Amino acid sequence: MSRPAAQSARAVRLLAVLERDGATCVWCGRCFAALVLPTTEHVVPRVKGGPSRLENEVAACRRCNAERGHRGAVEWLEECLRRGWAPDEARLARSLAALAAVIAREGGQRRARPHLDAQLRRLRRRGSGRAMPA
Ligand SMILES: [Zn+2]
Repeated sequence: MSRPAAQSARAVRLLAVLERDGATCVWCGRCFAALVLPTTEHVVPRVKGGPSRLENEVAACRRCNAERGHRGAVEWLEECLRRGWAPDEARLARSLAALAAVIAREGGQRRARPHLDAQLRRLRRRGSGRAMPA
């Protein structure tokens, strides 16, 4: 895919994510607006092998996306809670479960799997594994 085509595919996916999850940042809960622009947040980071597909993508504001960096999603969720923000733990749990389901169905993503498994374990220890479909 050419670069403009890839960017446009990403913009289309971001719109689908906003439609699916609502127009708020997954980490701080702020509504997106002119000064709180939505960005594509990869639940399993690209550097950990996370794929660019809807199951691995949620929307985060630019500030949160940049501050999280390559930290694990659940580690960063816990940091957001410490800061008194309102991260959407259920949205994160759904995304991790959806990505696990895709991998179970289609295979592949060998680089992302250990990271994803660690995130799912950490989420279950928090007790939000209950939010996940079987
Ligand atoms: Zn945010």
